[in-house]
Amino acid sequence: MEEALKAERRGSVPVGAVVVNRDQVVSMAGNEVMRIHDPTAHAEILAIRRACLALKSPLLDGFDIYVTLEPCTMCAQAISLARIRRLYFGAYETKYGAVEHGPRIFNFAIHKTEVIGGIRETQCGQILHDFFDRKRKFITHCHNIPLSATESRK
Ligand SMILES: [Zn+2]
Repeated sequence: MEEALKAERRGSVPVGAVVVNRDQVVSMAGNEVMRIHDPTAHAEILAIRRACLALKSPLLDGFDIYVTLEPCTMCAQAISLARIRRLYFGAYETKYGAVEHGPRIFNFAIHKTEVIGGIRETQCGQILHDFFDRKRKFITHCHNIPLSATESRK
């Protein structure tokens, strides 16, 4: 959740991920899509990359990953490719989620990661809700400024 909040401060959608091996944190990351202009820079991908780099191995056999939001298709597939043992996620994502929704990646993946969803669901969901709420209010605020007000300053 801390990583999610850091992602928000960087202007990205607040999602955080932590890779854990026997209660030991191996890596953590927050969404960096906006900061590094990379559509694949989701928290899960970055956390997996960092863990693999630290271990000098493409596999995270027996490792677990904690994510604040249900992973998307790309991340669920990456979790399976890394052979992560168990995925714990917070909020459910009905639109882009690919674990309990949509393509349900682990039903078809060769390595079937165990899934435990809804961990601190309310708190994880609230971070996202607040982020989008602020964004909406900001956009509405900008659209409500009459054009004449900006033109008259010329
Ligand atoms: Zn993703």
